[in-house]
Amino acid sequence: MYDYIIIGGGLAGSTLAYRLLKQGAKVMVIDEPSRNISSTVAAGIFNPITGKRTALTWKANEMFDELHAFYPKLEVEMGEHFFYPLPFYKLFDSIFDQNEWLNKQQESGFNQFIEHEIQFLNNERVDNPFGALQIEKAGRLDTKAFLKALQNWLLSQNAISFQNFDYTNVEVTNEIIKYNDLKSQALIFCDGSNSLANPFFNYLPHKPVHGEILEVEIPNFYEDRVINKGVFVLPTANQKYLVGSTYNWDLTEPVTTSAGREEIETKLKEMVKTEFKTTGHWAGIRPSTKDRRAYLGQHPSYKNLFIFGGFGSKGVSLIPYLSKVFTNYLLNDAELPKEVDICRVR
Ligand SMILES: Cc1cc2nc3c(=O)[nH]c(=O)nc-3n(C[C@H](O)[C@H](O)[C@H](O)COP(=O)(O)OP(=O)(O)OC[C@H]3O[C@@H](n4cnc5c(N)ncnc54)[C@H](O)[C@@H]3O)c2cc1C
Repeated sequence: MYDYIIIGGGLAGSTLAYRLLKQGAKVMVIDEPSRNISSTVAAGIFNPITGKRTALTWKANEMFDELHAFYPKLEVEMGEHFFYPLPFYKLFDSIFDQNEWLNKQQESGFNQFIEHEIQFLNNERVDNPFGALQIEKAGRLDTKAFLKALQNWLLSQNAISFQNFDYTNVEVTNEIIKYNDLKSQALIFCDGSNSLANPFFNYLPHKPVHGEILEVEIPNFYEDRVINKGVFVLPTANQKYLVGSTYNWDLTEPVTTSAGREEIETKLKEMVKTEFKTTGHWAGIRPSTKDRRAYLGQHPSYKNLFIFGGFGSKGVSLIPYLSKVFTNYLLNDAELPKEVDICRVR
C-alpha cells in the first residue's frame, strides 16, 4: 500500500515525489515518458522580473530563495550538474521604455534582483541602442539533466514505473485508491497539459499553450548571460544557444512548424548582428491555466484525489517552492496560498 501514487514524472511530479519520499512517505510515480512532456522541451530559464510590464514575479523572494537553495542541494546529492545561474539582460525597446523602467525601479522589492545602472552590450554583436536592464538571480536549469538525475534517484528508491496511466482503470473510494494491482491512500495528478483529458480535473479551466524553441549556433557571441528582446538567447555549450519561444493557443499537438521557426529566426535577426545557423527545433505544450496561476489542491468530491499542476511557462521557478508548500499541506495540514488553491475555481 502506497501513501501516494503520483501520475506524471515531469518537473512537477518528480520534484514532489522527491520531497514526499524525503519526509518518509511511501510513493510511486507513474510516468509515460514518450507522451508530450513540456519539461524536456523547456529552455529552463528562471527570471524574477518578467512580462512586458517588467513586473516582479509572484512571491519572488520566497520562490527565488528556495530555487537557489533547492537545485544546488540536489546537484550535490545526485552528483550531477544542471543549475547555471546567469544574469538576464532585457533590452529596452525605446527611450520611453527605458524611462519607464528608471521611474519604476524605485518601487520596493526590486533591489536584490537588479543592477541599477543601465547596461550596454557590444553594438557589433547586439542591436541595443537603448541599453538593457540587468536582472540578477536568473539563470538556466538544464531540465533534461535534472530530470534524468531525479528519475535515476527515484528508480534507486523503487519509486517510479514507466507506463501509461489509464484514467478509466482507477477505482476511487473514500478509504482507498486501486489502480490495477496497486493500492494507495491517495492519488496526485501531475500530468501536465494532459490534465485536459483527466476526467477528475478536466472541470478546471486549463488553457494549454503550444510553444516552439530553436537551437542555434552563433560564433563569438555572449556565453555568460541570457539576452532577451522578443526572444531569449540562452547559452548552453560550445557556441550553441536556445532561442525562443513561441506562444500558440490553437495548436494542440507538440508539432514543430515552419511558421514557428520563421517567427523565432526573424526576431533573432533583429537582435543579433552576427550570422547564426539553426541546428535544432522542438515543440511542447505548456500546462497553462486560464488565470495564469498554478492548480494545487484537493478534488471537491473525492478527498483522496489531488492535483499539483498548471505551472504554465514558469515551472522551473515555481516548482521548488510550491512543492515544499504542497508537501506541507499534504503531510501537516498546512494551508495553501489562496492564489494557487483550486478552491478559487469552485
Ligand atoms: C517551448 C517551451 C519552452 C519553455 N521554457 C520554459 C522556461 O524557460 N522556463 C520555465 O520555467 N518553463 C518553461 N516551459 C514550461 C515548463 O516546461 C513547464 O512549466 C513545466 O515543465 C511543467 O512541468 P509538469 O511536470 O507540470 O508537466 P510536464 O512536463 O508536461 O510533465 C507531465 C508528465 O506527465 C506524464 N503524463 C501525463 N499523462 C499521463 C498518463 N496518463 N500516464 C502516464 N504519464 C502521464 C507526461 O508524460 C509527462 O511526463 C517551457 C515550455 C515549452 C513548451
